[in-house]
Amino acid sequence: MKSLECLLTDEAATNEFGEDLALALKAGDCVALSGDLGAGKSTFARAFIRAMADDEALEVPSPTFTLVQSYDLRIPVAHFDLYRLADASELDELGFDEALTEGICLVEWPDRAEEALPAVRITLTLSHEGDGRRVNVTAPEAAFDRIVRSLAI
Ligand code: ADP
Ligand code: MG
Repeated sequence: MKSLECLLTDEAATNEFGEDLALALKAGDCVALSGDLGAGKSTFARAFIRAMADDEALEVPSPTFTLVQSYDLRIPVAHFDLYRLADASELDELGFDEALTEGICLVEWPDRAEEALPAVRITLTLSHEGDGRRVNVTAPEAAFDRIVRSLAI
């Protein structure tokens, strides 16, 4: 595993970070989005999905109640919010494995299903820093190198 940290000074920076990662990720990548309420997880996911859709006005509803929202894009994206998951075994019923085979999974509140998520994954940990946010990116080496390249473009 390798890691890096970036300072995201405002919401636009979180959006840009999401857009960059949309260029870097591929089918089979699982992204765990960690961080407190208001840390920017959903902002990141929305920017990522809109960039993958190449549609900056695409509706990206929160999967708070549905637990998952799926997008049939250039690479399919499944956006999970596991806050209301009762048990890790339910991840199966939500079609997580199929979604990961077909495309990219973005997972908010991954700690709710820790044991059911793949151990090999990209973790973004967002936290408040002043008026902005800090993001720590931890990823297996191959994915990490793709991410670093996309951030440098
Ligand atoms: P979460 O899904 O983690 O609860 P949200 O994505 O809903 O958090 O974001 C909460 C708020 O934080 C939103 O109002 C958003 O505009 C703001 N925000 C996102 N990224 C940043 C940033 N880098 N700096 C300042 N505010 C941000
Ligand atoms: Mg959210």
